[in-house]
Amino acid sequence: MNILVTGGAGFIGSHLCDALIEERDANIVVVDNLSLGRKENIQHLFARRNFAFHTIDIAKEEGKLSDIFKNNAFDVVFHLAANSDIGQSFHNPYRDMDNTFLTTFQLLNQMRIHKVSQIVFASTSAIYGDVSQELTEEYGPLFPVSHYGAGKLASEGFISSFTENYSLQSWIVRFPNVVGERATHGIIFDFLKKIKENPHYLEVLGDGEQNKPYVYVKDLVEAIIFVWKNSTEKLNYFNIGVEDSTKVRDIARIILEETKEVREIRYTGGSRGWVGDVPFFAYNLDKIHGLGWRAKYTSNEAVRLAVQKNIEKR
Ligand code: NAD
Repeated sequence: MNILVTGGAGFIGSHLCDALIEERDANIVVVDNLSLGRKENIQHLFARRNFAFHTIDIAKEEGKLSDIFKNNAFDVVFHLAANSDIGQSFHNPYRDMDNTFLTTFQLLNQMRIHKVSQIVFASTSAIYGDVSQELTEEYGPLFPVSHYGAGKLASEGFISSFTENYSLQSWIVRFPNVVGERATHGIIFDFLKKIKENPHYLEVLGDGEQNKPYVYVKDLVEAIIFVWKNSTEKLNYFNIGVEDSTKVRDIARIILEETKEVREIRYTGGSRGWVGDVPFFAYNLDKIHGLGWRAKYTSNEAVRLAVQKNIEKR
C-alpha cells in the first residue's frame, strides 16, 4: 500500500509514520516544507527501504507535488500539513490561508488528477468556534474564532465537495489538544521553554482556568488509524479525544513538579491565552466510542506523561 503523509516531519505526523510503517506492505512517502517540522523527528526512518522524504511546500510548489503523485501510485493520503501555531496567524493571516487551507486544496486537486481515492484529514476542535456546550459531530452552525479554525473548516468543505464530485472516500478526524514527545509547539513546549529562559517565575497566559481535554499522541495516532480502518461511509467524520480535561493552572503545577523547579506562577489575567484561543471545550465522544475506540490515558495522565517524555529528551 502506497501512503502519502503530509506534514510527516512534524509532531503528530512523525508518530503517525512510526505506526504506519509497521503496516503490512506499506510504502510511506512524506512531504513537508520543514517550516515547523524537523528532520530529526523522522531521522530514524530514513534507513528503512519503504520510507522516503521530500521537502516540498504543498501550497506553493504545485509542479513538485504533481511529480510526487506521478511517481507514486498512492492508495491513501494522510493530510497533516498545516500551520499549527494558531496565535501567530493573528499577525499574518496568510499563514493559515496558505498552510492550513491551500495545502488541502492543492492535495485534493492532485488526488483528482492522479485518481487517488482516499484522504484522511487532521481536523480540529477549532472548527466549532467558542462554544460552551458539549460538542457532538452534528453541532452547528460552525463559526470558528481563529484563522486556523477557519482554514480547517474551509478544508473540510472542499473535502466534502471533492468527495462528492470525484468519488473519493474521506475520513475527517477532529483532534483536541495533543501532547507528547517531539512536540513542535503547544502549552507544554512553551512552559518548558519559559522555565529554561526565566529562572524567577513561570508566566501563564490568561487566568489559568482555561480547561481543555489533552490526548496523548500515541493514543491519537491509534485512533486515526482505527477510524480509517473501521468506518466505511463515503465521508466519515469523528471527534477524537478523552473524556476528562485539564486546567492550564494544573499543567503549570505538573510541569513544576516534574522538573523539580520551584518558582512563582504569574498569570497575565483575562479568560483566554490569546486572541482566537478557545478557553473551554468538551467533546461528546459517543460516536468514536461506539465504533470501538477509547483513549488509554486520561487528560491529566497524558499531560504528565508528555511532560516526562519531553524532559527525558532535553
Ligand atoms: P506540526 O507543526 O508539528 O506539524 C505540521 C507539519 O506541517 C510541520 O512539520 C510543518 O513543517 C508542515 N507544513 C506546514 N505547512 C506546510 C506546507 N505548506 N507544505 C508542507 N508542509 C507544511 O503540528 P502537529 O501538532 O503535528 O499537527 C499535525 C496536524 O494535526 C495539523 O494539521 C494540525 O492542525 C492538526 N492538529 C494538531 C493539534 C495539536 O494539538 N497538536 C490539535 C488539532 C489538530
